[in-house]
Amino acid sequence: MSQSPYDLVVIGAGPGGYVAAIRAAQLGMRVACIEKDHSLGGTCLNVGCIPSKALLESSELFAEASGGLAAHGIRVSGVELDLDKMMKRKGRVVNALTKGVAGLFKKNGVDHLVGKARLAGPGKVELEGEESQTLEAKRILIATGSAPIELPGVAFDGERVVSSTEALCFENVPENMLVVGAGAIGLELGSVWARLGSKVSVVELADQIVPGADRELAELLERSLHKQGLRFRLQTSAQSAEAGTSGVRVSIKGPDTESHEDYDVVLVAVGRKAYTDGLGLDTVGITTDERGRIPVDSDYRTSAEGIHAIGDVIAGPMLAHKAEEEGVAAVEKMAGVAGHVNYDAVASIVYTFPELASVGMSEDGARSAGHEVKVGKFPFMANGRARCAGHTEGMIKIVADATTDRVLGVHVLGASASELIAEAAVAVEFSATAEDLARSVHAHPTLSEAMKEAALAVDGRQIHM
Ligand code: FAD
Repeated sequence: MSQSPYDLVVIGAGPGGYVAAIRAAQLGMRVACIEKDHSLGGTCLNVGCIPSKALLESSELFAEASGGLAAHGIRVSGVELDLDKMMKRKGRVVNALTKGVAGLFKKNGVDHLVGKARLAGPGKVELEGEESQTLEAKRILIATGSAPIELPGVAFDGERVVSSTEALCFENVPENMLVVGAGAIGLELGSVWARLGSKVSVVELADQIVPGADRELAELLERSLHKQGLRFRLQTSAQSAEAGTSGVRVSIKGPDTESHEDYDVVLVAVGRKAYTDGLGLDTVGITTDERGRIPVDSDYRTSAEGIHAIGDVIAGPMLAHKAEEEGVAAVEKMAGVAGHVNYDAVASIVYTFPELASVGMSEDGARSAGHEVKVGKFPFMANGRARCAGHTEGMIKIVADATTDRVLGVHVLGASASELIAEAAVAVEFSATAEDLARSVHAHPTLSEAMKEAALAVDGRQIHM
């Protein structure tokens, strides 16, 4: 069945696709968004950002109730874990948000179509759903996201060797668990299960955890997680895994050692790859790059006329807010509005405790990029609010250009780093100097005063150290 053409058909209703669809409708386009899963929101809302943060919050409360409150003079006894209830709560959080997206589609007049989309030549999308149909579109936006990468020799079986998707819904706390990959996803889910009682061991191929993050803060985070019971081995990889009925035997190779170890479960969290399965890119002549991603120009146009792509399926950090901003910019550019994404100001966050949040260049990265840098640091130990909360671990580190004083990067390790980094992202977006941050009034007593002090410390003028 053929219908009058849509101005825009969006394929995929993750944070990239659904936000793009809503913005396009706001701009007056007639929009359809096709999603193969029944639940809207993509990886982020269903099996990513949201369920992981729901479990991080719950497990953090469990850890605090299990002893973390004693320093405040609060004795709690008889703390018990009801994992089933914790999981059901996570499910309710996810449900409320995915239903919210459906409501937003309705409110904005976006047609939500359920089924698997396939490109069928210029301006045509085939929808395989309850009722198959071909949609005509003036423009198509591919926002099909990503899927977990499988390690050769350590294939997923969904039970003993799992991806983040299964690690978000274990029915029991594994007695011991191997996490392969010390990036955000591995550390967050490793933290969840360690807090709930699992013995968690992490192997990472790089020579630091959170590869790419500021090395000094990554090392501090490693020490902190180690104190919480996570065991780390760097420059170490899982070579193979053999699952049996009662566990999985993994062969592990370090810089000088090789071992065979038994675990209840192995979480492989070594990254994600662009997802374009069954999309029919060949029908429109789009070829992917060496990592399976769809190449686009600065306006998110692919090599095929009228077809654009955004989010995890194109190059760049695989982050929900990056996908959202690209979705908005792509449709604004289609509508002749000046869309824009400043990739230097995209924050990345690891929601462990303490949290690690960064925006802009690391100290090493800034030096390698040819900047002469000044660095200001301020520890939370010297911040009044952090002391009140008993969250004194970590610091804020500001990397500024030595000549212009411009803020090149900000790195926060500490409680609420994920919230504190927003100020830094605005500073980078508006090309602020360290002096601008240092001169801005920060309310007392707040953790954000550590940002001001770190900015003052760029020129050695910090007051409270
Ligand atoms: P996706 O969210 O992957 O959405 C793509 C959608 O397209 C999916 O719903 C898929 O079903 C649909 N689709 C694919 N092919 C078709 C087709 N042919 N037809 C119809 N539909 C199709 N990012 C953060 O910023 N912060 C975090 O805290 C965070 N935590 C994470 C935790 C975990 C455990 C994981 C796995 C990821 C996390 N991420 C986080 C990453 C984030 O989820 C992704 O970067 C984000 O979801 C990408 O958005 P997207 O719209 O590009 O793709």
